[in-house]
Amino acid sequence: MTSTSRHDHGHSHASATPPAPVPRAQRARGAAAADEPFPGVEKVRDGLWSIPVPLPNNSLRYVLVYVFETDRGPYLMDAGWNTDDAFSALKSGLEEVGCDVTDVQGVMVTHIHPDHYGLAGRIREASGAWISLHPADAELIHDRYDEPDDLLERVAQALRRMGAPDEELAPLQNAAMPVRPLVDPVRPDVLLEDGARPEVPGWDLTAIWTPGHSPGHLCFYEAGLELMLSGDHVLPRITPNIPFHPQAGANPLGDYLASLDKLEPYDVREVLPAHEYRFDDLHARLEELRQHHRDRFAEVVAILRQGPDDAWDIASRMKWSRPWDDIAGFMRRAAVGEAVSHLRALEIDGIVRVEDGEPALWSLTDQAAG
Ligand SMILES: [Zn+2]
Ligand SMILES: [Zn+2]
Repeated sequence: MTSTSRHDHGHSHASATPPAPVPRAQRARGAAAADEPFPGVEKVRDGLWSIPVPLPNNSLRYVLVYVFETDRGPYLMDAGWNTDDAFSALKSGLEEVGCDVTDVQGVMVTHIHPDHYGLAGRIREASGAWISLHPADAELIHDRYDEPDDLLERVAQALRRMGAPDEELAPLQNAAMPVRPLVDPVRPDVLLEDGARPEVPGWDLTAIWTPGHSPGHLCFYEAGLELMLSGDHVLPRITPNIPFHPQAGANPLGDYLASLDKLEPYDVREVLPAHEYRFDDLHARLEELRQHHRDRFAEVVAILRQGPDDAWDIASRMKWSRPWDDIAGFMRRAAVGEAVSHLRALEIDGIVRVEDGEPALWSLTDQAAG
């Protein structure tokens, strides 16, 4: 995905860097590639299905909901946006695999972004299923969806520190608001910590806490079949956006890079991501993602060699897959947030420092001078 089709559905998604030019051969397998026709319901393994649930007005087009069949009924991983279209697509997808939405027993949500979590409440209403989240994401629901005014003020303050021009402040501050109706801000019934084993009879699932893209992002490993359900943490082509915003923690990119390393020890036959398509070489993809961020760090340092600057200007001087002037609204906020994530990680490593203010000014330390 390029920035023209970024993973920007609601809450700060993929970076605007272009994908690797030639997809590896194994990526042609599994669910449809992004530029192919809308995929259908697919059988992943016996008793395990993927259902593409459409996203409204979004270049990612769908979230892949995985269905685990059990004697008790189906369990889902992720849900979709809270729209009628999404609900009916999920409903008919479940019918296609011989299940009924009213029989759903549990919904394991990988993270709180609206395309994953928005529809979970409606599924619970229809079926009585439990909903699970990691506690770090469950904690964000109130500020984000119930009473966003305080969060919006903190966003505005962050934008001023980043150096956003006055005329862009208000639109950017409110850039995420249009998605609010598409989320049913329900509370989860089950909190899954790192290492937790969700109760899905007959399946050997373990939650792996992988903060970065979202503070409470979870991947799930199915040990029996050696499958990694990677949510938005690892996607075959898109680089997930690692935003720096008031709910993101002190060093989201540092968290993200550590979360990539956290998946290294697993033997994985196939990765089941929440968008795009399934793929089989997890370890090569982890290295590509690390390399992407190494390149970004180098780019930021090169910009700062020309002198101190604020985050807004730094972002505007970074390479994106379309001109800066064409990156607007939520995507622009995500792009600047992405620049700050890199700056913040470099600051923690002692390579850059920041002089607080509105805007805050970033510069290289002596350590980086050489
Ligand atoms: Zn996401
Ligand atoms: Zn997503």
